[in-house]
Amino acid sequence: MSSDKFQLKQTLNRLDGRSYKAYHDIKGEFQFDQFTVFVDHVQGDPFAKPSRVRVRVPRQFARFPENTVKNKSRTIALRDFLARNFHNAARKYSGGNRGTGHSGDIRIQKPGQEILERSSIIVTDDFVEARFTMGLPAFGRRIAGQHAAAMFLNELPQIVEHSLFYKNLDQNDLYNHIETSEDADALREKLETVNIVAFVADGAILPRASGIDPRPLSRGNVVPFQSPGPFRLEIELPNRGKITGMGVPEGITLIVGGGYHGKSTLLKAIETGIYNHIPGDGREFTVTVPGAVKIRAMDGRNIEKVNISPFINNLPFGTDTTAFSTENASGSTSQAATIIEAVEMKASLLLIDEDTSATNFMIRDHRMQELVSKDKEPITPFIDKTRQLFEGLRVSTILVIGGSGDYFSVADHVIGMKDYLPVDMTRAAHDISEKYKTERRHEGGASFGGLTERVPIKESFDPSRGRKAVKISAGGLHSIGFGTYTIDLSDLEQLVDIGQTRAIADAIYHATRYMQGNRTLKEIIRDVLSVIDEKGFDVLDRVPSGEYAAFRGFELAGAINRLRSIRMRQAEKKD
Ligand code: ADP
Ligand code: MG
Repeated sequence: MSSDKFQLKQTLNRLDGRSYKAYHDIKGEFQFDQFTVFVDHVQGDPFAKPSRVRVRVPRQFARFPENTVKNKSRTIALRDFLARNFHNAARKYSGGNRGTGHSGDIRIQKPGQEILERSSIIVTDDFVEARFTMGLPAFGRRIAGQHAAAMFLNELPQIVEHSLFYKNLDQNDLYNHIETSEDADALREKLETVNIVAFVADGAILPRASGIDPRPLSRGNVVPFQSPGPFRLEIELPNRGKITGMGVPEGITLIVGGGYHGKSTLLKAIETGIYNHIPGDGREFTVTVPGAVKIRAMDGRNIEKVNISPFINNLPFGTDTTAFSTENASGSTSQAATIIEAVEMKASLLLIDEDTSATNFMIRDHRMQELVSKDKEPITPFIDKTRQLFEGLRVSTILVIGGSGDYFSVADHVIGMKDYLPVDMTRAAHDISEKYKTERRHEGGASFGGLTERVPIKESFDPSRGRKAVKISAGGLHSIGFGTYTIDLSDLEQLVDIGQTRAIADAIYHATRYMQGNRTLKEIIRDVLSVIDEKGFDVLDRVPSGEYAAFRGFELAGAINRLRSIRMRQAEKKD
């Protein structure tokens, strides 16, 4: 069935000037000198989503040495590196947009600051494969066959030549990429063996160029990170050798300090430490345990059958908070539910910033306790629950708190930020809480309280829109269209790559296959992640897609929890 590149050229010449639909004739497989081109999906018109194409280079031609793929960590970094090179080569060697709509465009998913497993590049024992899109060119609705021939026969071979063959890559950059990522993985694994939840390397650059530009800040005076004595740790990495930095121990840690002194910037760096970063990012060795979940308030979100009773009780009209549902959460109930949902998915570290928290969820001070008695206040503030979370469930917390010294008495560690540098303030904070005894009463009871797992009801996941067709899409980093619903993910701050959002969108639908009987949300998500781990992202789509990036169970659960049609029931008590 396979044709060669000359036949492809002939076909494209023949199609020149014909109506756009005739492009369907090039669907299939074409043998080039050192690789095979697969045209998997042909777009219906020049404005539609561009056509999906793959290029497969046999390993004996690509010639990547064994040490670039000798373990999972290296293979993922190699794939990520090749995706970046393909992206750059496509910009350089493609003739770019010409003609109508997406005509002329050759494009692979653009990677950002994170080194992620991406479906845009696949490496097996036999081949290296790139997956990308091509805007098949047209003028109006007429096929531009000559341009298409140039794209396939001149531009594409140059792009492939410069990005998928070992000998044509910058080998120093390649090994630096691979070794940096392998070191970050090793560092992350080491954290748990020394009871550390986050590590920030000395010399790290934490601030970003801007609120919408995740590249490192390079203007003005950038203060590189320097670990404060008592938190300093030396760790040996497989490639780089010994590095030093700040280890944040398990337990409850406060980040305090004056406004604009770098508190939120430090927390943000810890949040993104669940990912590896590219060389030059500044956060290469800033890593966090994989179970770290950023928690924030998001009033207006929906909540479905969450047992928020550890935090919220005695709501007006006797509303049941052991199976709490709402279409329109308040700031405090949203924050409570988000914590319970994270713990349901086995989070090991919560990250909370006062900037994005509900004040009444975080604290109720002595005077307020006097004015509004406990039996009139549904909320048990986080300050009275954080120790129970750690002692009962081994869930640590790192909190940015600039406004409430009441937290000193529940904290194990206090890090002060001063002129963008951390100092150990644990002793000073504990001395103050001895000297100025707070009269506030503990309101958290004896233990954290009940946790209830939930079982999603399959029928509530309907991705169709009116007629039969399944309609799922990622509308941006923080938005998924699922049937007639739009899922707002803007409070899932640890999503970093639109490839993750695309994968999550399709994984929600895939997850419905595992919804049966009493399978809980946690079990279903575990099923989805393990099938992807075993078989790759291709289980998520009918046509091989280059648009996915690796995501965590927390974010998949987060998206499901925010789907407004979702119905759950609570599982029978288990432990
Ligand atoms: P806080 O939370 O303490 O109010 P932020 O973390 O928001 O402060 O930081 C305030 C500003 O300082 C931000 O614009 C941030 O980019 C910048 N900044 C943070 N850390 C550094 C640093 N190490 N060097 C230079 N600028 C920094
Ligand atoms: Mg702040």
